[in-house]
Amino acid sequence: MRSGLDVSTFATRRLQRQYIRNIDRQLISEEDTFLWLWKRDLKAETESKIVAAQDQGTERKYYATKILNTETDSKCRLCQQFDETIHHTISACPILAKEQYIKRHDRVCAQLQFNICKETGVQLDKKHWYEHVPKSVETGQGDNVTILWNQHVQTDRTIPNNKPDIIIRDNEKRTCMLIDVAISGGQKCD
Ligand SMILES: [Zn+2]
Repeated sequence: MRSGLDVSTFATRRLQRQYIRNIDRQLISEEDTFLWLWKRDLKAETESKIVAAQDQGTERKYYATKILNTETDSKCRLCQQFDETIHHTISACPILAKEQYIKRHDRVCAQLQFNICKETGVQLDKKHWYEHVPKSVETGQGDNVTILWNQHVQTDRTIPNNKPDIIIRDNEKRTCMLIDVAISGGQKCD
């Protein structure tokens, strides 16, 4: 377990580096973006890998070509179309977009749905979110809340995107909260 001082030093050092300089501050909440560093949910090794990735310090070909000068071709190994920066790999590669980004999106939604179920008293089969497989319909708080997963919403007019990731329906107040998740790179493109 890392001490508070270690985390503070770590975060301060991190804030001085490239990622923070590149963030478009008008588009994101800095406090929420860095919350994961203060919560200490991850192992130190995992944290350092994520920070290195955000700082472009991982073994990407763009880094090897432009910074280390150990390679001459900076193009992505998967799509061969764009520079292989970490931001390309995590959010902009057309090859990864076909399957891997969708899987990641679905896992984020599954964790969110798991937490909503816990908060609303739904009985869950699994103890951990990463084992959890969402069901189409869950009911919580004595049938007062219905949680829908990946369900079409019937509308009077045709709406092309009518399938939110999660719907929380309050059956007493007769209200619905629609949740649609987008995984943002949180980064403007250089
Ligand atoms: Zn690519």
